[in-house]
Amino acid sequence: MTTKPSIDWDALTSELEGIEVITEPTQIAKLSLDYYHFSPVLQGQLADKRGDLVVRPSSEEEVLRVAAVCVKYQVPLTVRGAGTGNYGQCIPLKGGVILDTTKMNGIRWIKPGLACVEPGVKLAAFDKKARETGWELRMAPSTYRTATIGGFIGGGSGGIGSITYGQLRDCGNLQAVRVVTMEDQPRVIQLRGNDVQKVNHAYGTNGIITELEIPLGPAYPWAELIVVFDDFMTAAKFGQSLSYADGLIKKLVSIHAWPIPSYFAALKSYLPEGKHCALLMIAESSLEPLQDLIEEYSGQVTYNKTAQEAGKGTLLAEFTWNHTTLHVRSVDPTLTYLQSLFPVDKNLTLVEQMCQHFGDEVIMHLEFLRLGGEIMPAALQIVRYTTEERLNEIISYHEANGVMVANPHTYILEDGGMKTVDLEQFKFKKMVDPYGLLNPGKMRAWQELKNSHG
Ligand code: FAD
Repeated sequence: MTTKPSIDWDALTSELEGIEVITEPTQIAKLSLDYYHFSPVLQGQLADKRGDLVVRPSSEEEVLRVAAVCVKYQVPLTVRGAGTGNYGQCIPLKGGVILDTTKMNGIRWIKPGLACVEPGVKLAAFDKKARETGWELRMAPSTYRTATIGGFIGGGSGGIGSITYGQLRDCGNLQAVRVVTMEDQPRVIQLRGNDVQKVNHAYGTNGIITELEIPLGPAYPWAELIVVFDDFMTAAKFGQSLSYADGLIKKLVSIHAWPIPSYFAALKSYLPEGKHCALLMIAESSLEPLQDLIEEYSGQVTYNKTAQEAGKGTLLAEFTWNHTTLHVRSVDPTLTYLQSLFPVDKNLTLVEQMCQHFGDEVIMHLEFLRLGGEIMPAALQIVRYTTEERLNEIISYHEANGVMVANPHTYILEDGGMKTVDLEQFKFKKMVDPYGLLNPGKMRAWQELKNSHG
């Protein structure tokens, strides 16, 4: 037991009768961790963290009961979806109860452009149903097959589809949520409109999401292509031109500098030695005009699957976003990564500068996305890790030159992408979690401001 020794766990468990409870240590250990190990810094800080028990409620009523029991015994509660987060978001720092949402996987309804789901539904499972109605998720992480919708909202930022719809935090990408509080008498609060930002990307520190309304986009048949280039900056500029081409319907524009493609074993025959590549998802109806753009940049198509063919085999998306890091680390676990956002620049000057400055130490991987009506290259660069000090120097150099870094080597909410305290999220936490029991240790504002702001 990692929480206060005075907790009577048998008494607590008996109050959860009728709800699935896991007490077996190996399973608890597995359900306590996520993909924190992508970071050599977090490896040292989080590897030994464990919850005391795991509960698997199957309804909002059961979540309310779990919340009431945790408040009664003053036990921390950490929510977990599929545990694919990258920065220990769902790792319980102070033990306690892990609330696993995967049994709450119902789809309440799907209408044109909008759906209502429970938090534990897997993104891919939901998408399959939505596509039968002609609609699909606007965006998904590359963990699409395993991650939950609640976890994506609680800990994700964007991904495949962000080239058209922006990021999760952008207005309109989350319509409404229901959350269970951790007050003396836990209750359900519905948040709509801008209020959803109070719990969006809050690592489950200020409410347990039990239902979400999510907007959908039209479902296109997505063709998948690999285009290769002799020169990295040509590949990057091709990616940028494609991203700016509003008439071309696209879902993914992912650019990789050599030697990153050399780590993609399953795609080896499509990735010639020394060439840089673009991994694309394009609506089949846009393939003809895409061809002209490929010729303009002297690209060579090595892989071209129709939507039907792509649906059957390897998904190209599973080599993009943070799956790129997964593949390189499966070959060389000493490699790690950065997450950054380059400013709008038609010439991609800073991208080129960073490539030249760091050479083989920081290898460029760009994911283009739409942000505030502009096209921007996000980057999940692969880093040859030596020391934490050097990693921080690399981050500082990027920031000093105008590249925004969402540090993936911290589990503190505000120190990742946000950088500043979000007062709305903090004030909401004060109201709904007055004892600070939800995922304790993750929200810096709570540690610093809990006694000062009313
Ligand atoms: P978890 O990891 O279980 O939880 C994430 C956070 O949300 C935790 O803080 C948890 O407490 C909280 N949470 C979960 N459910 C709820 C709830 N019901 N109420 C309140 N809080 C809740 N992320 C991206 O954004 N884009 C990517 O492209 C992407 N690619 C990835 C690739 C790889 C290989 C890996 C390992 C990770 C990647 N991620 C990416 C990170 C992660 O997969 C996503 O953020 C994913 O959506 C998390 O879903 P999950 O169900 O695993 O959530």
